[in-house]
Amino acid sequence: MSEPTTALPPALLVDLRAALASEELVTEGDDLAYYGTDRCRGDWPVAPSVVALPRTVEQVQAVVRACAAHGAAIVPSGGRTGLCGAATATRGEVVLSLQRMHRILEVDPAARLLRCEAGATVEAVQLAAAEHGLMYPVDFAAKGSAHIGGSIATNAGGVKVLRYGLTRSWVQGLRVVVASGECLRLGGGLVKDNTGYDLRQLFIGAEGTLGVVVEATLRLCAPPAGLVVALCAVPDEARVLELFARVQAHGLTLQAFECFDQGCLRRVLEHRGMQGKGPFDPPSPQHALIEVEVPEPGDAAHEATADALAECLADAQEQGLIADAVLAANGSQARELWALREDTSESLHRHRPHKSDVSVPVAELPRFLAAWRRRVVEALPGVEAVVFGHIGDGNLHLNLLQPEREDPQAFAARCKAFDEHTYALVAEHHGSVSAEHGIGLLKRAHLHHSRSPGELQMMRGIKQALDPTGLFNPGKVLPP
Ligand code: ZN
Repeated sequence: MSEPTTALPPALLVDLRAALASEELVTEGDDLAYYGTDRCRGDWPVAPSVVALPRTVEQVQAVVRACAAHGAAIVPSGGRTGLCGAATATRGEVVLSLQRMHRILEVDPAARLLRCEAGATVEAVQLAAAEHGLMYPVDFAAKGSAHIGGSIATNAGGVKVLRYGLTRSWVQGLRVVVASGECLRLGGGLVKDNTGYDLRQLFIGAEGTLGVVVEATLRLCAPPAGLVVALCAVPDEARVLELFARVQAHGLTLQAFECFDQGCLRRVLEHRGMQGKGPFDPPSPQHALIEVEVPEPGDAAHEATADALAECLADAQEQGLIADAVLAANGSQARELWALREDTSESLHRHRPHKSDVSVPVAELPRFLAAWRRRVVEALPGVEAVVFGHIGDGNLHLNLLQPEREDPQAFAARCKAFDEHTYALVAEHHGSVSAEHGIGLLKRAHLHHSRSPGELQMMRGIKQALDPTGLFNPGKVLPP
């Protein structure tokens, strides 16, 4: 249920109707709330006044100019998979959805560049790159729904950050509609362009608070010649880290190094009706999913990489770093091992988890986790904590599961109060309150744990300079 919408100035509606066809404008019904909020709703109100679904850059400019002229705020909206409320209209804003601007405009295989409209999904970009034997390597579970524009606005991460970096590393150029209604071209075809402030980078990770990304030029790369995947049973988190160091020291190039604990795996197996049929007997407290790259094409190179990983894991087992390991013999076994990790979020869903996406320096991970788990036991009796994450990036997804009989609202209130402990602990360990999902509405109040007063003041100054009237996504990112 959406909250009652705030009335739109009639003159603004006249201007919007002049810019957009009637089916490009939603003023009532379920679609208002659909486009007006993140797919995973928080406890904030949902109150968009209208949804604009432009098909062209000129229409985006017209909407921005109309809103600026009538003092209406804009919530830029992509695939709405960010989970932090950055795409939620809470007080009668105009939602500007890029949903209908989804064309792949150009692929230049020689330059390894792809240009697309902001509403293209991350998956569509990956597929278009693959048609030319190339790869867009930013990869995460929501890629089928997430828009490129939204992934740029939130600087999305995922499971391959260890090898390829965040979205930021892959954006060569942007077209952005700014508060004046002008469409700026920021970077593009040039690799070398050393001409002062890099404005393009400002819009990456700004969560739609500085302007609307309408088009992107993305870098592509060659895909790996092959991949070898293994799943390890590890006694504890400290040894997961030692294993991480060991695999790298062995000269293997990691594509991913993920972890998930016994609580996560149990939920995945339950979700599939496979209770007790896990990959290891006895069940392991911790797991490390390792994916390494085969350096060159051909069966011989593939075998050599698999042998090297097997040898590395045998050494690790001898020294007590791991209790057991499964090496995938083929692609379908590799996908099966990956699914044990990637199905985690979906499998936890029915336990209504309270989630936190945080990072700490890799070396701090075991100390941080031990301290966090201790605090959960002390402050949240009856609540089970389960953790998975991208160990190689120091990124943990902390999940507090709702006890069966607890009232959802009481549980949410307990967890919300506990968040302050979590983020204070993150700060003590020199970490970040948001590793990859962003700030949105969800973490504004905790941003001070990761950004100094000087930084926050500078961020406010940038917002003031680029969006002096507060046109774009008011109330998001910066603390009130
Ligand atoms: Zn993640």
